[in-house]
Amino acid sequence: MAIKIIGGGLAGVEAAYQIAKRKKNVILYEMRPEKLTPAHKSGLLAEIVCSNSFKSKDIGDAHGLLKEEMKILDSLVLRIAQETEIPGGKALVVDRWKFAERITEEIFKNQYIKVVREEVAEIPSGVVIVASGPLTSASLADKLASLTGRNNLYFFDAISPIVDGTTIDMRKAFFASRYSEDSSDYLNCPLTQEEYELFYRELINAKKVEFKEFEKIPYFEGCLPIEVLAERGKNTLLFGPMKPVGLKDPLTKKTPYAVVQLRREDKEGSMYNMVGFQTKMTYPEQERVFRLIPALRNARFLRYGSIHRNTFINSPEVLKNTLQLKEDERIFFAGQLTGVEGYLESAATGIIAGISASFYVDGKRFIPPPSTTLIGSLINYITEKKAHFQPMNANFGLLKGYKRKEKNTLVERAMNDLREWQKTTQ
Ligand SMILES: Cc1cc2nc3c(=O)[nH]c(=O)nc-3n(C[C@H](O)[C@H](O)[C@H](O)COP(=O)(O)OP(=O)(O)OC[C@H]3O[C@@H](n4cnc5c(N)ncnc54)[C@H](O)[C@@H]3O)c2cc1C
Repeated sequence: MAIKIIGGGLAGVEAAYQIAKRKKNVILYEMRPEKLTPAHKSGLLAEIVCSNSFKSKDIGDAHGLLKEEMKILDSLVLRIAQETEIPGGKALVVDRWKFAERITEEIFKNQYIKVVREEVAEIPSGVVIVASGPLTSASLADKLASLTGRNNLYFFDAISPIVDGTTIDMRKAFFASRYSEDSSDYLNCPLTQEEYELFYRELINAKKVEFKEFEKIPYFEGCLPIEVLAERGKNTLLFGPMKPVGLKDPLTKKTPYAVVQLRREDKEGSMYNMVGFQTKMTYPEQERVFRLIPALRNARFLRYGSIHRNTFINSPEVLKNTLQLKEDERIFFAGQLTGVEGYLESAATGIIAGISASFYVDGKRFIPPPSTTLIGSLINYITEKKAHFQPMNANFGLLKGYKRKEKNTLVERAMNDLREWQKTTQ
């Protein structure tokens, strides 16, 4: 029986290609062009809806390494992106229409894949990969909510920036939880009144990204952008995410005027999340404004803050690391729906879901790539239990041992380990 894939976007076409390579039949359901999403304009498979950049080609950059890993796994999306590349400096930039046309052509000519132009409103029988993306149609989203539990399906993300732990100035930060100086749960970045006032002014005046028409939403009080909170008054942040209450700076032995709290994203402390700092500031403005926080003067941002229209599931709660639903193993998830963020990341999970579903059909045990590889570490991130799950993009901080190893060593190890892993998937 054919494996059914819902969604002919980046993740869906990758999954289909990987399954077809293993000589298994696929039915790929895509609702466009009969029913468009609010962002897509055509019926082409793998249409990319915003930037036409697949980010850095430099292997010393996480997206460069991700490309090399995807190449090892024979990614269709990467191959066609390279074939339709247009000049874009260090980034892999594509002619978006040629890219989507060539992908569509490859999928249609594949003898194992049948494309059905239809909106799926019920989860079909048999083995299914759900890859319907951030703009999943309402009727399917409703079914996914019943499948995963309503509390485990989200329609917006409110993402705080993540800072590289090795770039925080620890002389200007201190560990403590409110009212507990012994705790290392939070890393606190204090500001004096003067530093706060400068930060506040720049935050208010910074350039913000406008919402697209379909993204306009009433904000939830619990996840307001930091700048919207700031606009309510100069002292609002001091009673909200920057409140210093219960914290004493060991250097001054006093309660600071304001504090930014960072929470560990991993046990090693490679990545720190800026608590409550979801924002619509542009990426360059986030760097400029957040670097006004003394401990973050030289900070490198592994993920920028954002607020998007998105659809994603609470993967750590509902998915196994094989990308199968814990409660119903015949159902797999791939793409942005799993809580990865970005074109390449979505396609990468499509590769893994495709291989994993093929193993399942053959009755073989699937073990995902190790977390010394970027793809493996992404899968590990989205499926490992955590208290605050928000979508994640590829970055070096995800790699096992990031703080202790040189970047070159990490890259070499990732490539070698993925090559070894790939041999187990033939
Ligand atoms: C507006 C917007 C802009 C973005 N811009 C960028 C960017 O610039 N750079 C970046 O790296 N990432 C961007 N992303 C994030 C993300 O990487 C992309 O959305 C990416 O395309 C996700 O891949 P996917 O395969 O999971 O979903 P998609 O590529 O969206 O594919 C899902 C497919 O499923 C189809 N579908 C939906 N519901 C059904 C249904 N019920 N039945 C059948 N078919 C269905 C859709 O028509 C679509 O073709 C953006 C996301 C959004 C929403």
